[in-house]
Amino acid sequence: MNSSGDTSSFTVLRQRMVHAQLRARGISDQRVLDAMARVPRHEFAPPQYRHQAYEDHPLPIGEGQTISQPYIVAVMLQAISPSPADKVLEVGTGSGYVTALLAELAEQVFSIERHAVLADAAKEVLERLGYTNLKVMVGDGAQGFPEGAPYDAIIVSAAAAEVPPALLAQLGDGGRMIVPVGATDSQQLQLIRMEGGIPQITLHELCRFVPLVSEGT
Ligand code: SAH
Repeated sequence: MNSSGDTSSFTVLRQRMVHAQLRARGISDQRVLDAMARVPRHEFAPPQYRHQAYEDHPLPIGEGQTISQPYIVAVMLQAISPSPADKVLEVGTGSGYVTALLAELAEQVFSIERHAVLADAAKEVLERLGYTNLKVMVGDGAQGFPEGAPYDAIIVSAAAAEVPPALLAQLGDGGRMIVPVGATDSQQLQLIRMEGGIPQITLHELCRFVPLVSEGT
């Protein structure tokens, strides 16, 4: 499938990642585990970090940004639990790794990245891997993408001081949003479920994401 390494050894490392880093730590959503067992994370890592693609930490992807730690990705996906008919918005495409996972789990994915260089690289990999049910756009994700709203799920992969109001407004009824909220070096994942127009918030893992950079917030 790829020309960037020994496919079978990456497959073994990926199975081990799913078992040791995800299942053993309490990730139980089978669709999430299966998707993470399928998506080739090494394809989204820069060549010099590819051999570390299945290790238990984030990886640099350029422009001062990172591809998130597998465990945190799994926690976020399990929290929003996208179903096959869902329309999902992602803020912070980065490498495109989470975009691919969302495309495996949901029907349609809109993803916004502020760095054009990263968006272009992500598009190239996602296209090469054959995903067609997603759209990567360059822009300020804190404003969301109103044309695609309402969303069944929203995933924000960069830390905000507070939940961007435009994203709340684009979350459909029964929709779930997962977002890291807090200061630069201490954040907590918030799961927001929209119920009858009222956001219900549940606190999840402590985490550390790169900042959500936005003119509008
Ligand atoms: N899920 C990605 C994580 C990338 S890190 C991955 O696994 O690769 C977070 C990304 O959010 C960075 O690429 C950063 O450039 C982007 N970002 C930060 N603020 C943003 C904004 N306001 N709109 C869109 N993208 C933003």
